[in-house]
Amino acid sequence: MALFGIYGSHTTEACPWNNIETARGILQQADRDMASMAQQYKIHRIVGQYHSALEHTFLWICDADDPHLIQQFCVDAGIASFNAVTIVPLITFDQVIEGLKQIHSL
Ligand SMILES: [Zn+2]
Repeated sequence: MALFGIYGSHTTEACPWNNIETARGILQQADRDMASMAQQYKIHRIVGQYHSALEHTFLWICDADDPHLIQQFCVDAGIASFNAVTIVPLITFDQVIEGLKQIHSL
């Protein structure tokens, strides 16, 4: 298992707050059991879902096995239909500290 960030952004016009079609899609997503759907893509836990409403960006953090399956989840859940999506491996600050100690033999 590993942490991944799902970074997304959409245009003002596609924003669910401004666009009834994307709003309907988001409400359908919200009505589904997203956690159990995510399990099918080896996403073990959605750690957080944070949005900047007026910047039209979001960051979801998940604990998952395979970024390619996260990509498929984003497609199948409709997230990628109106967002540009970037999937990035993440580590914790503690892991950064451990890494710098090893890299520099500190
Ligand atoms: Zn928006």
